[in-house]
Amino acid sequence: MLRILSFVLLILLVSVIIIQALPAENQPEQTSQVSAITDTSKETSSQTMQSELEKKERLEKAIEYQKAKNIHYFVDQGYTILFLVLFLFLGISTYLRGRIERITKKRFWVVAFYTLLFLILTFIVGFPSSYYGFSLEHKYELSNQTFFQWLGEQLKSLFVLAIIALISVEGVYLALKKAPRTWWIYVSVVFIFFTVVMVNLAPVLIMPLFNKYTPLPEGELRSKLVNLSHKANVKVEDIFTMDESKQTKTANAMFTGLGNTKRIVLGDNLIDEFTPDEIEVVIAHEMGHNLLHHIWKFILLSSISAGIGFFLIHLSGGKIINKFRNRLKIENMADVAGLPLLFLIFIVYGIITMPIGPAFSRVMERQADKFALDMTHNKEAFISAMNELAYINLSDPNPSPIIEFLLYDHPPISKRIKFAQEYEF
Ligand SMILES: [Zn+2]
Repeated sequence: MLRILSFVLLILLVSVIIIQALPAENQPEQTSQVSAITDTSKETSSQTMQSELEKKERLEKAIEYQKAKNIHYFVDQGYTILFLVLFLFLGISTYLRGRIERITKKRFWVVAFYTLLFLILTFIVGFPSSYYGFSLEHKYELSNQTFFQWLGEQLKSLFVLAIIALISVEGVYLALKKAPRTWWIYVSVVFIFFTVVMVNLAPVLIMPLFNKYTPLPEGELRSKLVNLSHKANVKVEDIFTMDESKQTKTANAMFTGLGNTKRIVLGDNLIDEFTPDEIEVVIAHEMGHNLLHHIWKFILLSSISAGIGFFLIHLSGGKIINKFRNRLKIENMADVAGLPLLFLIFIVYGIITMPIGPAFSRVMERQADKFALDMTHNKEAFISAMNELAYINLSDPNPSPIIEFLLYDHPPISKRIKFAQEYEF
């Protein structure tokens, strides 16, 4: 176990070093490519020179920001693993469970209190890392939140997470107690239903806790989209706007929900900064996600992945507990003090399979881009929307292939633009 762990930590460390050392791929070409697309005139007036300079500076800033974000991501993963290992091996976990058992012996309450305390401790220990993420957004002028607004949302998220965690952990430990050999099958099946219900409820139950969603108002944009919505099987009434400017300066759009709650959501920043043609392309992309059943496919992938994860926990959890019995002092798999171990196995499994999810997502995003181009026949708007997105969101249009492989759930902007340029209707 410790050998696996040091191996994973070593990989993380090496990744960080590689990212630090990597030159940004084809930077000069990228600059010229992006500017060539947005530059419509060949004039070299001082004004265009000025905006070229601005774009170049923005690009450099984006590369720097993305690099800092990636390093933070890997360091955070290493930090979480370290925390879980220390929590288990220093006996903090069993100490916590022991203290709770002095108050109540009832299994249900022991699991509930342990889960809550573990969650709060994780939140506190992870706080410096979360705060660093927040300060990074401020440093790069992407955030519209004060510290206390941000903290309020963090606490709100913790509350939502606590409810979901209580239900899930109680379910898992009930299965572990009642069916020690086949628990992972029950848990996997319930996981699928739980995910479907959560995806269905999230847009009406959870998302409104953080933002206000309003139907797209009557006007030029809405009437422009009626036609598109007929073609793509999403009602125009199901297009919402969201006050994302409350939190961020970045522009975003998404397709979310399931069944009666499925909807397209446009951030107000996107509506403010993009032209109607560009917004139309973005919406067509989101409609593509609907028509191609991407949410169902995503649920399928998550279910398979989680099922394998639960099975791996079943295979290795008991063995690890036995091997380190003297140190861990965890009774068996049904002992809630082993919860950090379940997370640890899941995280290591997640690191090993890290590229699968993003690769799957990139394929779906490419399909949605193709759909948007077919629907709108507007390459220019697609390309300018991409450039605008990269500019506003400080995306690195051309990340290193390793980073793209491991983390990118969308194809990098440069590839999306190239795809549109070369696309034949
Ligand atoms: Zn998409």
